[in-house]
Amino acid sequence: MAKIVMKFGGTSVADLDRIRHVAGLVKREVERGAQVAVVVSAMAGETNKLIAWTRDLAPLHDAREYDVVVAAGEQVTAGLLAVALSASGIGARSWLGWQIPIRTSGMHGSARIEQIDPALLNERLSQGQVAVIAGFQGVASDNRISTLGRGGSDTSAVAVAAAIQADRCDIYTDVDGVYTTDPRIVPRARRLSRIAYEEMLEMASLGAKVLQTRSVEIAMLYRVPLRVLSTFEPDGGGTLLCDEEDIVEKKPVTGIAYSRDEAKITLHRIPDKPGVAAAIFGPLADAGVNVDMIVQNVSEDGKKTDLTFTVSRSELHRALEAIERAAPAIGYRDVTHDVSVAKVSIIGIGMRTHSGVAQMMFRTFAEKGINIEVISTSEIKVSVLIAEEYVELAVRALHAAYELDTA
Ligand code: ADP
Ligand code: ASP
Ligand code: MG
Repeated sequence: MAKIVMKFGGTSVADLDRIRHVAGLVKREVERGAQVAVVVSAMAGETNKLIAWTRDLAPLHDAREYDVVVAAGEQVTAGLLAVALSASGIGARSWLGWQIPIRTSGMHGSARIEQIDPALLNERLSQGQVAVIAGFQGVASDNRISTLGRGGSDTSAVAVAAAIQADRCDIYTDVDGVYTTDPRIVPRARRLSRIAYEEMLEMASLGAKVLQTRSVEIAMLYRVPLRVLSTFEPDGGGTLLCDEEDIVEKKPVTGIAYSRDEAKITLHRIPDKPGVAAAIFGPLADAGVNVDMIVQNVSEDGKKTDLTFTVSRSELHRALEAIERAAPAIGYRDVTHDVSVAKVSIIGIGMRTHSGVAQMMFRTFAEKGINIEVISTSEIKVSVLIAEEYVELAVRALHAAYELDTA
């Protein structure tokens, strides 16, 4: 008997009609003989509303109370879907993170799942009861509710699938799979029938929010067969995540991602001598700031140079504070920052074997008159930082240049 996890995102459970529709999809799998665990998100817009309420009361608030508030959205949908399933004759019950329990780290607001006890779930599943699990939440080591960061229900689903050793994990959303780029900004984007775990990991971490990055990491680690499907056209085929070897046609570029969540910081006239990078990035790491791209210019006089790096916009203030505190040790002249920047990335395992891939990206930007501010590369991706106003133009131009457009 197949054991499956079905995850439904916010738009899929946005109102009662949609929750009834989701109950129908779950019922269909039960009637096919599967044991089903369902993971649900909050109704569309609900998490944003809860976050705004918390921030409006106090911009600086206790992250543990933030978690109590924002985890509530998923509690509502889990209960409603269990009610809808029962009403259609399917045995079901809701599960909150702490009831399973889903144990997480203590980093409230962006906790990591550490352990899921599969015993209770497996017992109920084997009795034929559908488990409707509130996504996005768990219980932290301090015994308080925790949440997993935006988009975290994907991670709940994949982690539950790994814990109960499900035969597959289906992520139902408002698009019918993973596309070559965000179909909302490039209507000519194509659905990929398969994508390698590694490519999906890069796509997600570079901004494609169709799957939370951590969910892909867990799927890769525990070899969870993962599909992305449409709630509204569930028989459309979707996208299967698979091993690199299972992809026959390795184009140089598989997909394009972008992220507006970028801020650029430049330290002017820092000493060009050993130990300076450590004096800058040590305090940033201590302050919990994640530094992404880094570029240091060659110094003209051999004494002073400039250094630019990027952080996520939400960490900008923390980064600037850390830099200011470390000013005496670093010894810069002044520091500037810019939040009107964005990162555009090309991703593909084919880059390992094709040459001239980055060159095409730079030429495309030159033709469009888009200035490249910072570049970073890895084996299967090239990312560039550009002015935010050019993001859509850049993504569309690259999509055409790498022949990803639909015919
Ligand atoms: P859910 O609420 O179901 O979790 P999300 O809004 O988190 O859904 O993710 C789905 C959205 O991700 C799509 O509506 C789409 O705009 C966006 N997206 C970004 N990049 C891609 C991509 N490469 N392929 C598919 N969707 C993408
Ligand atoms: N409701 C949460 C969010 O909006 C988690 C999720 O939907 O995955 O980020
Ligand atoms: Mg999501």
